Amino acid sequence: MSTGIVTVAYIAAMVLFILALNGLSNQETARKGNWYGISGMVIALFATVLGVVTNNYIELMIALLVGGSIGLLVAKRVQMTEIPELIAILHSLVGLAAIMVGYANFSDASSHFSGIDLTIHDIETYVGVLIGTITFSGSITAFGKLSGRIGSKPLILPGRHTFNLVLLVAVTWLGQQFVVQSAVGSGVLPLVIMIALALVFGVHMVMAIGGADMPVVISMLNSYSGWAAAATGFMLNNDLLIVIGALVGSSGAILSYIMCKAMNRNFLSVIAGGFGGGNVKASSGEVQDQGEVLTISATETAALLMSAKEVMIIPGYGMAVAKAQQIVSELTSKLREKDINVRFAIHPVAGRMPGQMNVLLAEAKVPYDIVFEMDEVNDDFSQVDVSLVIGANDIVNPLALEEPNSPIAGMPVLECWHGKTSIVLKRSMATGYAGVQNPLFFKENTQMLFGDAKDTLVEVVAAL
Ligand code: NDP
Repeated sequence: MSTGIVTVAYIAAMVLFILALNGLSNQETARKGNWYGISGMVIALFATVLGVVTNNYIELMIALLVGGSIGLLVAKRVQMTEIPELIAILHSLVGLAAIMVGYANFSDASSHFSGIDLTIHDIETYVGVLIGTITFSGSITAFGKLSGRIGSKPLILPGRHTFNLVLLVAVTWLGQQFVVQSAVGSGVLPLVIMIALALVFGVHMVMAIGGADMPVVISMLNSYSGWAAAATGFMLNNDLLIVIGALVGSSGAILSYIMCKAMNRNFLSVIAGGFGGGNVKASSGEVQDQGEVLTISATETAALLMSAKEVMIIPGYGMAVAKAQQIVSELTSKLREKDINVRFAIHPVAGRMPGQMNVLLAEAKVPYDIVFEMDEVNDDFSQVDVSLVIGANDIVNPLALEEPNSPIAGMPVLECWHGKTSIVLKRSMATGYAGVQNPLFFKENTQMLFGDAKDTLVEVVAAL
C-alpha cells in the first residue's frame, strides 16, 4: 500500500474516531457512534498492517489472532456489572504497551539519532514509559478495587504527600540522568529505577482514594491511557496513534472534570488521595443503628404505586447486580399505561461506571425522554408521590449534605426524601460502596422493600 493511501486511510480513521466520540456523547446516537469507532479501528488496523509494517507478517497475524480471540471471548462472557473492572484492566494493557514499546524503542540499535534529535527521542521515550507505568499499576489497583478484591477504604499513609513529592523529584532527576547517559550509549539503570518508582506511585495514587471518589480515578486513568497511547505514537512516529491518544487523553480529562464537578470535588485533592477520608465515621460496612426501619411488601408497593400520580425511579448499582433493568422497564410501561407519570433520575456516579445506568435502561428499551440527569429533576421531588430507589445507596444518602466528616461529604445526591414516600429496594441494611450508613433508610417517609431487586420487582409487577 502506498504512503498516500495510508495517509488517506489514517485521515478517514481520525474523522471516524471524532464522529464516534460525538456519537457517544448522547444515548440516541451512541449506537451509531460505536459503529463509527469500529469502522475507524478496522481502517486503522488495515492501513497499518498493509501500509506501515514491512516485515514480520506471520508474527503480526498470530498476535492479531490471539489478541482478537481473547478480546472476543472476554467481551462475550463479561457481565454488565463487570464492565468497569474490564475497562480498568484494558487501560492497564495500554500502559503496558507504552512501557514495552518505550523499552524496545530505547534498546533499538538500528535507530540513528544524534544531538538534539536524540535528546527529544529520549525525552519522548522516558515520558511515554513513565505515563505507561503509572497507567499500568494504577489501573491494576483500580481493577482490584472495582472487583472487590481490594477494599474501597482509602489507604492513608502518614506523610503521603511528602512521599509523592519525593517520588516526583526522584523521577525528574532520573529523567535527566537517563538523557545524559543515553547520549553515551547507556541509561538502562535510571529507566528501570524510574519504572519501579512509577509502579509504586500508580498503586499508591489509587490506593489512597476512597470508594466514593473512584469515578474520578476511572476517568483519570482513562485519560492517562490516552496520553500513554499518544506517547507510544510519538515513539513509533505514528500520527494516527498520536491523534487517537490525544482524543482519548483529552476526552478522559474532560470526563474527569465533569465527574469532579458532579461530585463537588477538587480534582487535585482527589488525585492527592484520601479526599474526605480523614475522619470517616462509619466505614467498611459497619452499620450504625439510627432508629426504626419501616418495611413494605411487594403487594403494598404495587398499591402505593397505583395510587400515585408522579413516580420517580432512582436506579443504582444494585439494579445492575440484580439485572433488574428489563423488569424495571416492564413496570414503567405498566404504570404509564395507567397514566402515571414515571421519570428516571440518574445520578452522575450511579453504578460503577459513568453512564452505566443509561446503558442498562437503553438496553431494556426505557424511552430516552423519561430518563433525566440529576440536575434536571432534583428540585422536583416535593411533587413526587413515590420514589422507587432500586439498588441505590450512596447516591441517595443525606449524609453527603449533613455530615462534613463523611467520605461522601459535599457530593450532591438525589434528595428523594423531600417527596411523599421513598421505597428502597435492597437486600439488607448493608452500606453502599463508600461504606457509610444511610439515614434515608430510617426516615419516616421511607419504606424498605427487602430482597433481590429483580425478584421483588417481579412480585410488584405481578401484583399490579
Ligand atoms: P452503592 O454501591 O452505593 O449501593 C448499591 C446498593 O445496591 C447496595 O447498598 C446493595 O445493598 C444494593 N444491592 C446490591 N445488589 C443488589 C440486588 N441484587 N438487589 C437489590 N439491591 C442490591 O451504589 P450507588 O449506585 O448508589 O452509588 C455508586 C457508588 O459507587 C458511589 O459511591 C460512587 O462514587 C461509586 N463508584 C461509582 C463509579 C461510577 O463511575 N459510576 C465508579 C466507581 C465507584 P444490599 O447489599 O443490602 O442489597
